[in-house]
Amino acid sequence: MAVNDIYDLIVIGAGPGGSAAAIKAAKAGLKTLIVEKDSIGGTCLNCGCIPTKALLHSSGIYRQAAGASAFGINCKPEIDESAIAEYRDKTVNSLVDGLRASLKASGAEVIFGTASIVSAGDTVTVSVTNSEGLSEYRAKNLILATGSETIIPDIPGVELDVVTDSDRLLKAAKLPESLVIIGGGVIGTEFASFFTDLGRKVTIIEGLPRILSGFDKEISRNAQMILKKRGADIHTGSRVTAISKAEDGSAVVVFETDGSENSVTAEAVMIAVGRKAVIELPDELGIKLKDGRIDTIGPGRTSVKNIFAIGDITSGQQLAHKASAQGENVVAGILDEDSYVCDEIIPACVYTSPEIACVGMTESEAEAAGIDVVSARALTSANAKSVLTGEERGFVKLVADRSKGILIGAQLMCANATDMIGELALSMSNAIVTIDDLNIVRAHPTYEEAIGDALKLLKQKM
Ligand code: NAD
Repeated sequence: MAVNDIYDLIVIGAGPGGSAAAIKAAKAGLKTLIVEKDSIGGTCLNCGCIPTKALLHSSGIYRQAAGASAFGINCKPEIDESAIAEYRDKTVNSLVDGLRASLKASGAEVIFGTASIVSAGDTVTVSVTNSEGLSEYRAKNLILATGSETIIPDIPGVELDVVTDSDRLLKAAKLPESLVIIGGGVIGTEFASFFTDLGRKVTIIEGLPRILSGFDKEISRNAQMILKKRGADIHTGSRVTAISKAEDGSAVVVFETDGSENSVTAEAVMIAVGRKAVIELPDELGIKLKDGRIDTIGPGRTSVKNIFAIGDITSGQQLAHKASAQGENVVAGILDEDSYVCDEIIPACVYTSPEIACVGMTESEAEAAGIDVVSARALTSANAKSVLTGEERGFVKLVADRSKGILIGAQLMCANATDMIGELALSMSNAIVTIDDLNIVRAHPTYEEAIGDALKLLKQKM
């Protein structure tokens, strides 16, 4: 066991947050080590955002091809599951290779193994265990970026082999013909969108009164309506009481809704009730936690001065782009630079069809905060691009502070929403941009014109 040179920075976890931090630090000339116990890219690249979006891309093409006769193209698409898996894996591998190359080009040293904090003080000592044994490394600064894992609820039968989670389903060679999803949050609805696109039977069982409960009510309502129209069964306000395996190998899920018991059978059950932070810290370090996450202030500062935390282990939304921004900002702080990215305005996107993208406050959150709020919603049913591409009914909703004349939130549910949210986030990150400044000429025909329509409606109400 050799104690090596002192690094300026050690990063534990090479997901989007840890990698962004290590790349920025190494490029700036800091002697940087990043330790990963599994695969470069973390959840996002390997078993989260990227493989999910690849699957949704395949299923979206299938749905569009199946409906192509409406546009004068007659075809009968067929699903080739192994080709879908091959495309998914090729996409993941290409992005993982790209990230590995970026880390190498930055000059950051990468070590595979399980890292643990040994001690902290003016320098932090970290041990790394891998097939070569145990090594110790010291650094002036440490960033924890260890991510999250699926929460497994305490339900009888949850350990059965018919029960899976998104991490495992996203690596599966064969997809189930029918699926019960426990939890109608972001993961639950994205998977429901994928499976219903492919014509597979999906049942969502959600504990709260609506799916996507963290989003604007109208988004929840629309998402539920569209998924139902595509064949999903959705049981809200429901509690799963048991999972068992029938003689034919299928899963039987028993659940209660309003005191009455129901059951549903499917090939597999997916747990999607949230993700918990992966935090293993020696108690004597005294790093403060809040609701199971590391309590941070400023750019990733923990209660220990040279230990920082970013990404899913910190409070708030668990999003890859937020983790990357936090990572870059922590390194900017170590370098004594101004914050690198504005990480206060963070868009949240759901890649269902139609897409959902939100930023800032909803109308009810703004009301609860005592803001003089005004909102307007433009339906996309009159948007030329949406009409010509045959999109589902969608909308753009804008929320403004009447007295300041600025945008404070936006909720979009329409084609390309996840690309359109950027201009609204930009205007909110720069509070000198008023509602009037947003009234630019938008190209015709574009989905973006719906933002212009919503602005006109908003202006009438200001
Ligand atoms: P989530 O918090 O979005 O949703 C979990 C849902 O499960 C909630 O609606 C909750 O009410 C419900 N639930 C909890 N316990 C239940 C129970 N026993 N029975 C029935 N329902 C129950 O969590 P998730 O969907 O697992 O996603 C985890 C995290 O990953 C989220 O923070 C999410 O933002 C992130 N994520 C983001 C994206 C994206 O940005 N597109 C995609 C996937 C995941």
